[in-house]
Amino acid sequence: MRAAVAAGLVLVSTAGASFAGVDLAALDGWDIVVSQEASPSVAYAAEQFQAFLVQAGGERLAIVTDPTRVDRHVFIGPSAALAASPAGFGVEGFGDEDLRLVIRDDAIAIAGGRPRGTLYGVYTFLEDYLGVRFLTHDHTHVPPLGPRRVVGPVDRFYHPPLAFRWSYYAETNRYPAFAAQNRTNTVPTEARLGGKTGLDLINHSFASLMPSGEFGEIHPEYYALVDGERRPDLAHGGKATQLCLSNPDVLRIVTERVLATLRAHPEKENVSVSQNDNTMYCRCPACAAIDEREGSPSGSIIALVNAVADEVAREFPDVLVGTLAYAYSRKPPKTVKPRPNVQIQLCSVECCMLHPIDDPDCPQNVEFGRDMAAWGRASRNLSIWNYNTNFHHYLLPCPNLRVIEPNIRCFVANNAMGVFMQAAYNSPGSEFSDLRNYIMTNLLWDPSRSGEALLDEFLRLHYKAAAPPIRRFIDLTHDHAVRLGLHQACMGPAADYGIDAAIAQAGIECFEEGLSLADDEVVHDRVEKASICAYRAALEPFMSPGADALADAGMIRHSLALRERFVALCEKFGVERIAEGTLFEDFVAHPLPLEALQGRRVVQLPEQWLFKTDPENAGADQAWFHRAPDASWKPISIHRTWDSQGYADYDGYAWYSTEMAVPQAEATTLWFLCGAVDETFDLWINGEPAGGSSGDPDTLWDKPVAVDITSALRPGATNRFTVRVHDQAYAGGIWKPVWITATD
Ligand SMILES: [Zn+2]
Ligand SMILES: [Zn+2]
Repeated sequence: MRAAVAAGLVLVSTAGASFAGVDLAALDGWDIVVSQEASPSVAYAAEQFQAFLVQAGGERLAIVTDPTRVDRHVFIGPSAALAASPAGFGVEGFGDEDLRLVIRDDAIAIAGGRPRGTLYGVYTFLEDYLGVRFLTHDHTHVPPLGPRRVVGPVDRFYHPPLAFRWSYYAETNRYPAFAAQNRTNTVPTEARLGGKTGLDLINHSFASLMPSGEFGEIHPEYYALVDGERRPDLAHGGKATQLCLSNPDVLRIVTERVLATLRAHPEKENVSVSQNDNTMYCRCPACAAIDEREGSPSGSIIALVNAVADEVAREFPDVLVGTLAYAYSRKPPKTVKPRPNVQIQLCSVECCMLHPIDDPDCPQNVEFGRDMAAWGRASRNLSIWNYNTNFHHYLLPCPNLRVIEPNIRCFVANNAMGVFMQAAYNSPGSEFSDLRNYIMTNLLWDPSRSGEALLDEFLRLHYKAAAPPIRRFIDLTHDHAVRLGLHQACMGPAADYGIDAAIAQAGIECFEEGLSLADDEVVHDRVEKASICAYRAALEPFMSPGADALADAGMIRHSLALRERFVALCEKFGVERIAEGTLFEDFVAHPLPLEALQGRRVVQLPEQWLFKTDPENAGADQAWFHRAPDASWKPISIHRTWDSQGYADYDGYAWYSTEMAVPQAEATTLWFLCGAVDETFDLWINGEPAGGSSGDPDTLWDKPVAVDITSALRPGATNRFTVRVHDQAYAGGIWKPVWITATD
């Protein structure tokens, strides 16, 4: 499966011979030769060659299996006829995607290893000699051949440097034939399309290998010891804990289950033995001793995975046992080396997306680069899990197009054998998804390509006359982020990526100009689809209002006016999600406090409040809202979560209190407008209950909430505000300014 052939394009020597090329516009009398035993993907490769040559204005070549002469053939796939041809060769020793192209005199030969080499060879030929570009699932650029197109002579061999390639976009995942054309070997399942690699994505698996429902009650010692307690996590099936990796029974059970899986699925080339998605790794003395010695919790992980891998190697010598190097386990162990049949799936989740991974001036990436280099030296099976979109806001402009090329090159230079580019996988139509998918798939197949040239090429071919203003907008967002010196990982509001109201407005103008330049209806629609990101940026003040928008009802009103256009575009282009975890339909249905947001600003409550955690949830019973806070309450800012102010990882109930003189306000309704509270809250004013937020905490945490306080508030007097926040996971607390607003 992994051929020991040097990566890259190799020109096979033709020294001493003198060959002519072939005129693709003059193939009259030629045919396409395939073996009688051609595999489904070789037969399909021949059909693809035939069809695209016709589309380019060339001859329709017959597909034959028994040629009767030696010359004027396009050989597709290995065959006896190819072997007998003067241009012929065999594919013995070729890896499953290795390919060779020969063009000389009266023959073209395209053949590769099974099962995908020949099909990928045809696509390579179509790109390099016919100028075909596989842009999107419904847009393939096929330039006309013209009266004469001489190509070759050439003799090329190609071994793709990455054995696992996945541009994780809905734009590829949902279109297997397109995925095959762009040589994404992780999507198509049909034999006709060459199937997919037997390598699966290495992902969280401890909970499925040893579910706590099966072992948790009788053997809590199989699970992580944290803060002096075993955590079998019966509530979530084991997903919210980890395994005790030094327990010999854990090793035995995991090994048995891995072997059983492999016996049931002989097609598998790898299997996951990987930590769950949390930081509850085992701190028992035995696990801790290994991790201490190895300088990283990856120590106990690799020790266990190595032991599993040794057993797997006896029965399945070609199978890899994969594990995540992720979050707490990202740093490799000091002395334990992964076995040759261990695969490391290294995740870059903390990295800055706005600078290349190997940018020595990006403080957020330097340490990851060191870890990657160390893993690349220690493991021959390093794979990368890289993050490529703003997972909290799929539709916002994300100025990271320039890092795709250097990142993929850097992964390959550090001996990566696979790259998973996680992006907007569960919804089509995310920000520049077609363009990004094009750049990524091309670079994953051939990292020597230029990201800049691919970007220009896609814009020129897909948006045609409308390309220049779109390019201008892309440059604007990227240059602006550079000017601001931002560093940002893969989640955050627009401001974290340098996207502000001026950028949004400039974007809308660029796309309007693009629409006016569009050649036809088809291009017009493509430009409209791409324009969604600018409208999304313009909606930021009311979707996720920052301090400026919370202070300015006019900004909110301007933003709101664009909402209709945004919604219509999303509907037209089938956008299903506005974030990884937020359905478009839920966004449309979510009741935002529009009255309060657009209301007159009466007063802003102070940034500094007093704060007290309430782990026993006793505050309500003890009526903390009735009393002025005592010395056990500590100062806190309400413009940041409590986690960043000395209460890291605190989940549960906590109380905020402040006093404020509220001016007289003539109004029909007075609002307590919170920019955002993570997750839900109850409010008391002057000791009396005044309402709170309600709804799904998963979607409430970053959205403005307003409470009608008309009857509770005493304008013209000093009022005491008490807020009890309930947070169940991750960061918590009031984290944006609070205003009192009024509607007449
Ligand atoms: Zn342990
Ligand atoms: Zn950075």
